Amino acid sequence: MATAPKKEELKKIPFNGHSGNQYLAVRMLKMMVPLCDLCQSPSGNHPAKWWERCPHNPYFDRSEIVHEDPIITVQEDGRKRVTDTDKWIEVVETPRFWQIPAVGRIDNGRGVEQAREYGYKLPQEMGYAPFCMFRDCWSQDITVRNGRWGEYCNEFHLKLIVADQRGKNLEFFDMDRRQQQIDEINV
Ligand SMILES: [Zn+2]
Ligand SMILES: [Zn+2]
Repeated sequence: MATAPKKEELKKIPFNGHSGNQYLAVRMLKMMVPLCDLCQSPSGNHPAKWWERCPHNPYFDRSEIVHEDPIITVQEDGRKRVTDTDKWIEVVETPRFWQIPAVGRIDNGRGVEQAREYGYKLPQEMGYAPFCMFRDCWSQDITVRNGRWGEYCNEFHLKLIVADQRGKNLEFFDMDRRQQQIDEINV
């Protein structure tokens, strides 16, 4: 039996616990954003497609963590003494994801095209798993894939987006009525 070629495993970043606010439904695409102090000019006159030639890992935020490790010396009587401290710096790079509105009815909307002109990239293009398309939802555990509306962590998020895209006003105060309206949404 032939086995399908193994798809390269897409990376996930630690989920930060934010899964959005159900009253603020907007379809947003998470994209990686290039920034570089050295290759971008403050005036905004950057060389065209500067991110393709930037050697400074422009899609990642860099932070430094200072570590202080004790240097321990065992004395003749067996006691341990801290005789010095080793200070060292760890450089941590984390992928920079921003979310941009993608409210076009069928395609991803103009926002994505514009973002590409500034070098933004989809997570998959950088080896990362896609995110839920609900605003402020940073889940990468996609359980719902819809050919028209995109990828979501659950059906609830998908339906809220569909309601927003169709201009359907959901009940704000009566929770039973609201749930009923959400149940009735066909995707
Ligand atoms: Zn650079
Ligand atoms: Zn979600």
